[in-house]
Amino acid sequence: MNTIEPSTTNKHPLIALAAEWILPMTQTPTCDHHDLEAPQWLDNHAIIIQDCKILDILSRDQILARYPDCEITELKGMALMPGLINAHCHAAMSLLRGYSDDLPLHQWLETAIWPVEAQFVDDEFVYQGTQLAIAEMLRGGTTCFQDMYFMPDQIARAAQQSGIRANIGLMVVDSETVWARDASECISKGLSVYDQYKHNSNLTFSFAPHAPYTVSPQTLEKLSTLSFELSLNIHMHLHETAAEVFDYQKKHDIRPLEQLHKLGLLNPQLNAVHMTQLNEQEISWLEETGTHVIHCPQSNMKLASGCCPTGQLLDAGVNLAIGTDGAASNNDLDMLAELQSAALLAKIDCLDPEKLSAYQALYAATMGGAKALGLEDDIGSLEHGKQADIIAIDLNQIETQPVYNPVSQIVYAASRNQVTHVWVAGKQLLNNRQLTSLNESNILNNARSWKDKILENKIVQKQNSEL
Ligand SMILES: [Zn+2]
Repeated sequence: MNTIEPSTTNKHPLIALAAEWILPMTQTPTCDHHDLEAPQWLDNHAIIIQDCKILDILSRDQILARYPDCEITELKGMALMPGLINAHCHAAMSLLRGYSDDLPLHQWLETAIWPVEAQFVDDEFVYQGTQLAIAEMLRGGTTCFQDMYFMPDQIARAAQQSGIRANIGLMVVDSETVWARDASECISKGLSVYDQYKHNSNLTFSFAPHAPYTVSPQTLEKLSTLSFELSLNIHMHLHETAAEVFDYQKKHDIRPLEQLHKLGLLNPQLNAVHMTQLNEQEISWLEETGTHVIHCPQSNMKLASGCCPTGQLLDAGVNLAIGTDGAASNNDLDMLAELQSAALLAKIDCLDPEKLSAYQALYAATMGGAKALGLEDDIGSLEHGKQADIIAIDLNQIETQPVYNPVSQIVYAASRNQVTHVWVAGKQLLNNRQLTSLNESNILNNARSWKDKILENKIVQKQNSEL
């Protein structure tokens, strides 16, 4: 680990987090996951935090010799690791969790989700729904999420108040929505939100064209230019289902990914979400262009969308990140469960238990996400100079004992209820499972009253249709 001399004129106190295991996630996994150069974890070490950053990582018995004035927090039986990065979410849709289940994607969108969104989504819905999602994510060890939804100003407001890190996707669709009349208005309103919040150190922004079937090639071309000019990523649903690709090809005589390639959109600024339908040529393009793939295994399974070929993508050298998708299609924002699903799904998809190892899955949910968001110099691993985005997982529980290998326990055995502490930029946002920056009872009351409002309306509509 790198170290630097502690400053003698510190204004901020030094904090040492001493734990039984530390998983720095600094090693890049190779195709052969047995090939890692160093151990995947450090035993009995401590992380020294100064202000918002990691100053040092050193063995437990060196702390006081090197940093005599630091405050030591003992985390016995716990593992410290980088905060999980949820690389694809529609946070506000948490208010529609369980509203409609067990339907194919397009039927689910057209008969259930889009109508209720058209009727209820407003500033308060997005603000309060995003708060509910952030509370759930923090309690599950997610310290950064990438979002895509209407009213990005409300998403930014909720994220800023909570202290979580977020990449706010500036949603773009061609047709009229609750947010804007058309794509041009989506872009102009989105850019004013970007201007308003771009100096907040915990917030970054991307363009979020919804999908090839809701955004025209002309709009995508415009976004390609803007993304290059403003250095903003593009975050987009792509090749989510076979039907989407088939219909697009029938209409445009080209597959969506090839269309994006022709428009110059396959590049390291693109976060391609889902990607369940890929041929060998397309996997080569992703690798050659440095395009990132965001894998949402549980949403893909629940909507029976298909299976992202993560084993082949990793073998080809494509960067993989993991997302939960929205809670309306998942139905939770549980990144530990998601990365476990990712590991299991890759194995059954390839009938090869060596695909997507525990370490590779954890890497995808940390450094993989950081790379996709363009934040790999700041987050994703625990090392000197990076932001102190750290989570503690209590492995001293019946469900995760004994610990031969903490990576294995976290990926294959631990649940999010074992996440006890969370820090984002050095600020503690979860302390012994208590949220420190959000009011849990307000969030619960808001969620219940949205349910009452939406259900009441559904009953009135049913009565009217029966008259
Ligand atoms: Zn999505």
